[in-house]
Amino acid sequence: MFALAIHGGAGTLPRAEMSGDMERLYRAGLGEALKAGYSVLESGGTALDAVTDAVVMLEDHALFNAGHGAVFTLDGQIELDASIMDGATLKAGAVCGVTHIKNPVELARAVMEHSDYVMLSGGGAEEFALTRGFQFVPRSYFYTAARWRQLERIRGGDARLSPLTISHVGTVGAVALDRRGRLAAATSTGGMTGKRYQRIGDSPIIGAGTYADDRACAVSATGHGEVFIRAAVAHDICARLRFGGRSLAQAVREVVLEELPALGGEGGVIAIDGQGRIAMEFNSEGMFRASRRAGEEPRVDIYRS
Ligand code: ASP
Repeated sequence: MFALAIHGGAGTLPRAEMSGDMERLYRAGLGEALKAGYSVLESGGTALDAVTDAVVMLEDHALFNAGHGAVFTLDGQIELDASIMDGATLKAGAVCGVTHIKNPVELARAVMEHSDYVMLSGGGAEEFALTRGFQFVPRSYFYTAARWRQLERIRGGDARLSPLTISHVGTVGAVALDRRGRLAAATSTGGMTGKRYQRIGDSPIIGAGTYADDRACAVSATGHGEVFIRAAVAHDICARLRFGGRSLAQAVREVVLEELPALGGEGGVIAIDGQGRIAMEFNSEGMFRASRRAGEEPRVDIYRS
């Protein structure tokens, strides 16, 4: 068995505001990223390579809040966070607050594979990227007019875009099981529109936004980072499988539909276990998501079906 699930964030537009054309663009972007990751698994590649490739595709896509197309901080900057975890070794890598790295998930992976650390931030992460020969891009590379308009609405006090609504966030992520039974998870984000400068959410926090453990499952989260950190969402789901005797579906439902709402946390997760069972649950209006299990057709969804 092998399988892959990806998400493009829980910060969807309300269903009533999503045009047919927009929906087609989102679906196509998800479909391409799914295909990229799935073909790695199909040809015998690792879960780590599959989640990396799928997330890179989503980072490069202007519509998703990661890499090109990321949201702006309140002072009009782009600050990117990403993390990755290998379920076979429990090795992990993360970067936060990077500003010139085209694909932050690849830098997170380099931190995991080529440094003695788990997390590097800001200038330190970019200094490390220099030593690893990473591609640097000017800040303007990340700019999209749509994200800038969102920032202006926030600055103008549009209540629908306050930090208590989810329509201005997003994140991308992937979880995979490869043919050798290894799990991996990766997450990458621009964070929340209008976030305070150097605010860090859950996405680069191992155990909150990302976790993978071959003894349980792999998880990538999206939603209100502050609450996801407090609830240690990704690790909590794994722990419910390992120590609580829950199935993947039960563990994910308990955390997303009970624990998070009790703390006022909106969002969702994608998760996969060692049998290739996939759970994609959210308590928001929608979550951009796609999945494919070996021998089955791909699925792409945004709202509840
Ligand atoms: N979790 C991300 C953050 O708080 C945002 C999101 O997933 O929408 O930075």
